[in-house]
Amino acid sequence: MKFRVYGVVSAVMALLGMAVCWTAQAAPPKVVILMIGDGMGFNQVLATDYYQHGAAGKQPYEAPEFVRLAVSTYPAGGAYDPKAAWSEPNYINRGTTDSAAAATALSTGVKTKNGQLGLGPNGERLETMTDFMHAHGRAVGLVTTVPITHATPAGFAVHQMSRGNYTEIAKEMLLESPVQVVMGGGHPDFDDDGKPNAEPDEADRYQYVGGKATWETFGDPANKAWKRIQEPAEFKALAEKASGSERILGVIRSYSTSQIGRAGHDDNVRDDAPYETPRRTDVPTLAEMSLGAINALKSGDGFFLMVEGGAIDWAGHKQTFGRMVEEVIDFDDAIAAVIDWVNREGNWDNTLLVITADHETGRLSGPDGAREVENAGKGVLPKGGYLTKGHTNSLVPLFARGQGTEILKKYADEQDPVRGPYLDNTEISKAIRDLWN
Ligand SMILES: [Zn+2]
Repeated sequence: MKFRVYGVVSAVMALLGMAVCWTAQAAPPKVVILMIGDGMGFNQVLATDYYQHGAAGKQPYEAPEFVRLAVSTYPAGGAYDPKAAWSEPNYINRGTTDSAAAATALSTGVKTKNGQLGLGPNGERLETMTDFMHAHGRAVGLVTTVPITHATPAGFAVHQMSRGNYTEIAKEMLLESPVQVVMGGGHPDFDDDGKPNAEPDEADRYQYVGGKATWETFGDPANKAWKRIQEPAEFKALAEKASGSERILGVIRSYSTSQIGRAGHDDNVRDDAPYETPRRTDVPTLAEMSLGAINALKSGDGFFLMVEGGAIDWAGHKQTFGRMVEEVIDFDDAIAAVIDWVNREGNWDNTLLVITADHETGRLSGPDGAREVENAGKGVLPKGGYLTKGHTNSLVPLFARGQGTEILKKYADEQDPVRGPYLDNTEISKAIRDLWN
């Protein structure tokens, strides 16, 4: 009896304590959307502005409502020295992160070794953004233009020592994690041109979707765990109309990426004009996938959505300037669609939108290595090009709007002589989590 009275008293006190907290602080955000241009540095954005508009600063996220900062990206054990970055010729070519360590930093707030996902430098299990958001009652969606199990989406949901363990990553993401929406490439039946996949080895063909047996369970109508969509019309329908609360697995008709692997491009020609070969129409745009994911997530108590423009990086590794610009435009269109959705149906007072990159790829520069690409007018690729085939340790841009931008600004307490105030990639994750403290 005595015990029961004590229990009631402590429950009442706990409720009072919570009430005090609630009145003292703003409620946490209902919606957090993090959009990552993989490999998208300052010059990738500038080049796209010049190509599309013939002028800088024209993207929807470059509007005055958005906070603009820079972000350091180095992995565990690394550093970014702002002076050296602008004075030592090859400083930024060294100590670079890969997408796995960068995604882990953005997801968990902890730096790790390259190649690792959701695990710290010593293999310790970290709380991913999916773990965190699920614990706080938010549904989680992950959308990308590259395989669903590639490093960036994977770093938000799984715990794996190697980013190359695609089959294990798929199983953890789809069969163990609470992620509600997953969309991207990795389709075993199609190549990157939408033709039948000629890859004979089954282990490789089905790697991105968890192996053949796992993939086949998603096609079974008796599988109530996931609703699988694949056709462009299915993506379009979801982008236009809210779905129920079912989990959506959207795998586009591409083995790896949606557009840059399509035919019509000679890898020896670095500066093919964008759209010289028409884009594929048998796969959804990133904007359609992003709106589809929002429609599949919005019926609950709020959500976290990560959207990746994944092939900006792939085009950088191939040094194909024109196809990189296409990919940034696809990413920018997705951002515009998300902004439009918040304006129409959401509320900037309880929504945080962050647009950033995991690292820069290719050291894109102006003519003769100049700091900025040079405007050649609307509809023309700017002058300049890539200086490496790898990643760089350069700062990357960040644009943010909505609830929590003040916290991001507070974390940006370091100063770069060219890019201005910057924060570390781990601090993006910390700033998001602070909104719940
Ligand atoms: Zn890369």
